[in-house]
Amino acid sequence: MTAPPRDQLLRLRRTLLASTALILQLLLCWLAFAAGFMSLSLGGMLVLSFVVLSSCVLFLLAIWLNLNLRLRDPSLTMVQMCWGIGVVFFSAYFVDHLRSLFLMMALVVMMFGAFRLRLGGFVRIGLFTVACYAVLLASLWLRGAAIELRVELIQAVEFLVLLLGVSILGLEMSSLRSSLQQRNRDLQQALERIQLLAITDELTGLYNRRFANDLLAQQKALADRGSYGFVLCLLDLDLFKTVNDRFGHANGDAVLKQLAQLLRRVVRDVDFVARLGGEEFLLLVSRTDVTGAELMVERLRQAVRATQWQDCPDLQLSLSIGISAYRPVEAWEDTLLRADSALYQAKNAGRDQVVVV
Ligand code: GH3
Ligand code: MG
Ligand code: MG
Repeated sequence: MTAPPRDQLLRLRRTLLASTALILQLLLCWLAFAAGFMSLSLGGMLVLSFVVLSSCVLFLLAIWLNLNLRLRDPSLTMVQMCWGIGVVFFSAYFVDHLRSLFLMMALVVMMFGAFRLRLGGFVRIGLFTVACYAVLLASLWLRGAAIELRVELIQAVEFLVLLLGVSILGLEMSSLRSSLQQRNRDLQQALERIQLLAITDELTGLYNRRFANDLLAQQKALADRGSYGFVLCLLDLDLFKTVNDRFGHANGDAVLKQLAQLLRRVVRDVDFVARLGGEEFLLLVSRTDVTGAELMVERLRQAVRATQWQDCPDLQLSLSIGISAYRPVEAWEDTLLRADSALYQAKNAGRDQVVVV
């Protein structure tokens, strides 16, 4: 069996706490029974204990076996609270002098919902509790128990005031929890944005040099394990300085962005492309040999030559490309150095070409 996910573990913990409250209530019953305040026989006490304990086990089992996930409220908050309050009122029926003390336990049960219930939930639980109280009084009256109406009335009012207080406190905690959750979500979003900014190049949106280094280290580790090899292609725009001189720096930026879009279109899911700086880019082609990579960048070189650059009429640009395959188990920096020297050769040989070393 796989380990329960974090949410389920939290639910288990909360259910364990709720079960503890029920067991404490049971102990209170036994205490009252021992002191002679309970009008239940020993058999009745044993049945009550069996029902309460098995309900605790059932709730815990339901969560452990993930049965709760099929329900609309997988936390089982409402069900557990109603059951807990029901048990409290049921046991209060059998105790005479300590009834108000017993009923205090219902407030403890209410506290368990404090972090989970919203206003609607508290209203429903409040109404349920009031209904339980009414049923208790009616049952006592029917049984012919000696009910002092004034005392019961004052007790009921006091209980309702406490119930209201606990509900308001619970709502306060619940809204605190909601705002904390919202803040956590905002922080998570901010973190994701920061992580994205840390790995991308601001102008082109491609990966930056820092992240490229990390990815290269990863690829080397994979290649050394024998998973698959990779080929590095260093791309440099030819005579890019003249673009800035002729069309201005802003249009030069636009050209770099347009080139980045073109590179993204060429790159497969298993490859990656990064801007190393200026007008120099790194293309990593994996699961392909040098010939495959060469074909790929040759198509790219031709595409760059054929590209119409926005806002730069009559501009024809070309790419020089140096290629080198990774040789296990060398440092990836060595592969990059070879690709760089291949690029240097391509420049020296007249630019606009692909050189493999
Ligand atoms: P080569 O064919 O030898 O590569 O010539 P080149 O002019 O492309 O290379 P060089 O290294 O002499 O000049 C690179 C130019 O790229 C200089 C710089 O103005 C320009 N550049 C670098 N980064 C940016 C950028 O972010 N935006 C713009 N617009 N230009 C940039
Ligand atoms: Mg250049
Ligand atoms: Mg350059």
